[in-house]
Amino acid sequence: MTETARPEASTVPLEALPPLRDTLAAAGIAADKRFGQHFLLDLNICRKIARLAGVSVDDDVLEIGPGPGGLTRALLETGARVTVVEKDPRFIPLLDDLAAAVDGRLTVIEGDALKVDEAGLFAAGGAGRPVRIVANLPYNVGTPLLVKWLTGSFHPSSLTLMFQKEVALRIVAPAGDKEYGRLAVLCQALCQARIVMDLPARAFTPPPKVASAVVTLTPLEAPPSAPLLAAVQTVAQSAFGQRRKMLRSALKGLGGETLCRAAGIDPDARAETVPVSGFLALAQTWLDRRNGQAAPTLPTGV
Ligand code: SAM
Repeated sequence: MTETARPEASTVPLEALPPLRDTLAAAGIAADKRFGQHFLLDLNICRKIARLAGVSVDDDVLEIGPGPGGLTRALLETGARVTVVEKDPRFIPLLDDLAAAVDGRLTVIEGDALKVDEAGLFAAGGAGRPVRIVANLPYNVGTPLLVKWLTGSFHPSSLTLMFQKEVALRIVAPAGDKEYGRLAVLCQALCQARIVMDLPARAFTPPPKVASAVVTLTPLEAPPSAPLLAAVQTVAQSAFGQRRKMLRSALKGLGGETLCRAAGIDPDARAETVPVSGFLALAQTWLDRRNGQAAPTLPTGV
């Protein structure tokens, strides 16, 4: 991760910056599939995302994968302070130009968002200030990044994220829905999750193969404790690992029918019909029953 001294950027006010398409053409940058690059070059769409995220002048924002900086411009227009993390070095000079236009309100970090220590990034600017995450995420790392933010020690005040539509549906799916699974349970155990905008593939340059959607995740006021959340993940992993089996069999290793009955959950039910509150009950009961034993390990690869 680098935030080193770089060649002097050109100073043009934000409102006088050239259209994004011209900026990309002048820099000779074409989208690189390896980085999941599908750009939003329509500033009106970018402004709508910033509005949906509720970003205002008082906010600190973390944006992952700014690319040519369309969404970044929209976020900066609100007056917020923005920190961006971009892996593709070709965009750094463009982003430095943007930083020069906004008088220190934009911090540009060249690095891999999967490895970045978000709490460390914001500690210097005032530890404890709420930070909103807003991003048009690279599709190849969208889910691992979301899991990192939900389960790590950095606690954003809101997340407004563009995903492939199929992933967005897996995040917001209610119990009983065919998309309902471990990702829905994790997200909804911690946040209120909603799809707030659908975007067709043609809104992006180059267009991806599938449609996209923006999801907002608003952390619950009383989220489960870290041990309970880890237990929820363990239970959900077992339950959805064998999603066609009844819970009495799928959860055999965790207590099977006895666990289900103690938690008030029908042992003949299948994972896809158990609401998030049911997973919390199963997890709490499992923790209570194994009182005194080692804490559960966090499963990976939701
Ligand atoms: N925000 C821009 C927009 O909306 O036009 C670009 C979005 S594009 C879907 C994803 C961006 O994430 C690209 O700029 C890509 O280079 C960057 N990226 C990909 N993997 C990354 C990673 N691991 N860490 C940081 N940035 C990454």
